[in-house]
Amino acid sequence: MQSLSNRAKKLEKKPFTLAERAYLPAIFQGLSITMRHFFMKKATIRYPEETRPFSPVFRGLHVLKRDEQGRERCTACGLCAVACPAEAITMVAGERKKGEQNLYREEKYAVSYEINMLRCIFCGLCEEACPKAAIYLQADKMAPPRYERDEFIYGKDRLVEPVSPDNRSKRGIQLTPEQADKLRSQLA
Ligand code: SF4
Ligand code: SF4
Repeated sequence: MQSLSNRAKKLEKKPFTLAERAYLPAIFQGLSITMRHFFMKKATIRYPEETRPFSPVFRGLHVLKRDEQGRERCTACGLCAVACPAEAITMVAGERKKGEQNLYREEKYAVSYEINMLRCIFCGLCEEACPKAAIYLQADKMAPPRYERDEFIYGKDRLVEPVSPDNRSKRGIQLTPEQADKLRSQLA
């Protein structure tokens, strides 16, 4: 039957040679491709030991910021959780007690605050919704790989910005930078 394009090619079925029956040409062709890729520039990197440079607009791991006096900024208003399209944020609010003014900036604070990094799509809407400038997505950090799903639930222990040990007295009370400097100069 005449094909429509008239470009049909009739192939003759030749019997395999002894080398072809032993798969030798295919084996050498495969080995040559492997050797060629062995010396080519690698398309992959050894993550997590190596990382690629981050884009200037990269949004990575969250941080709950402290104010200039080392107090937690978050007031547990819940706006970030409402804004989150992935429903990745949960929190429990509590009332600040007397004497905790140096720990929490507002009268209400987050007793617990969790972000599920497996749900998060790193859109940054929580950062934009926050009226207290308390939550930011860091431009140079991402959630490191883990083996267990539970380890992707980030609580306050991993989200709140760390306080320098220098800014803490021995009784665990957070000091202002000025108080810490004064204490350091007294101890020197
Ligand atoms: S970055 Fe986006 S998805 Fe992730 S917690 Fe914030 S609002 Fe939710
Ligand atoms: S991080 Fe900001 S928006 Fe979210 S609960 Fe705290 S103060 Fe409210």
